[in-house]
Amino acid sequence: MQTITLSSSKKHELIDITSKVEEIVKNSKVKEGICFVYVPHATAALTINENADLNIQADIIKATNKIVPEHDGYLHDEVDNNAAAHIKSTIIGVSKTIPINNGKLQLGVWQDIFFTEWDGPRSNRKVIVNVIGK
Ligand code: ZN
Repeated sequence: MQTITLSSSKKHELIDITSKVEEIVKNSKVKEGICFVYVPHATAALTINENADLNIQADIIKATNKIVPEHDGYLHDEVDNNAAAHIKSTIIGVSKTIPINNGKLQLGVWQDIFFTEWDGPRSNRKVIVNVIGK
């Protein structure tokens, strides 16, 4: 198991972690297998999506905020005021599994792996990466 540590700088943010995950896969020497990526946080998530047009990151944030509006009468807002972030983490999900072939992640040409922050800015955010195979 390897851990990537990162900081977010905005309340809502997508952070591209593809090169860091690729480095872990390369160092593992695994040629055929899977790469399991996991975020151990209740207000963050992972997605795999377009890497070319940066507008798609803003669009994902905009659409997610429409689906889950901030402070919409959630009970948890009375506890620590971040219920929307928890709900977004649940909807988007905290893990991804990516196939490895010939030692390379089988991402599509337009796909990168993004840590998605929903309650930033935060320091000491973690992404756990397990490379399984031979
Ligand atoms: Zn909370």
